[in-house]
Amino acid sequence: MRLDKFLANMGYGSRKEVKKLLKTGAVRVNEEVIKDAKKHIAIEQDQVVVNGEEVEYKEFVYLMMNKPQGVISATEDAHEQTVVDLLELEDARYEPFPVGRLDKDTEGFVLLTNNGKLSHELLSPKKHVPKTYYARIQGKVTDDDIEKFKNGVTLDDGYKTKPGELVILKSDEVSEIELTITEGKFHQVKRMFQAVGKKVTYLKRLSIGPLLLDSTLDLGEYRELTEDEVEKLV
Ligand code: URA
Repeated sequence: MRLDKFLANMGYGSRKEVKKLLKTGAVRVNEEVIKDAKKHIAIEQDQVVVNGEEVEYKEFVYLMMNKPQGVISATEDAHEQTVVDLLELEDARYEPFPVGRLDKDTEGFVLLTNNGKLSHELLSPKKHVPKTYYARIQGKVTDDDIEKFKNGVTLDDGYKTKPGELVILKSDEVSEIELTITEGKFHQVKRMFQAVGKKVTYLKRLSIGPLLLDSTLDLGEYRELTEDEVEKLV
């Protein structure tokens, strides 16, 4: 890749700004000062240092976000704030996108990455990646509901869901549950409860596959996955 393109991609400004930076002699490739913007570098092998700091090259970025309500799971939108709008510029430059969707009024774990292959695998119905949700439900959730979810329920469009694992945390006028499902149909959790005559009043995603939402992330905050977490996913 051309050196100017690489530095622009890594957030050192526009191609024009990068050219200026190169002219100042601030950039070294393998310890040699390089002023030629057209120089080609091997991004995985060559060491690039700007003002004494090594430029860490990453092909992929993996971000765990605690999505707040009111924000949509998309990269851009003319009217609504998106999860990508919540990213710092240095992360946005990798052009990550959300893996799957949470409803606008759903909170919790959104994974953002620019790794298309991984995203595809996580979303593939064949992979049955489990996702766990916490929800508050109007009315009493019962053992009967656990049984129904285990056997699959029929949604309003006639689709019969795969088994869902329902755990009742509290059964009362407002119940609290955790539900693990391995599919991602549109509004699936809300529609599963609708199928048993109940209404979800609050929904939050807690986990995707082996990864748990980091409880130290406030709403709207995010962090990079650790190497261990990435290994568990790929
Ligand atoms: N199920 C829903 O109903 N909504 C979501 O956002 C996610 C799962």
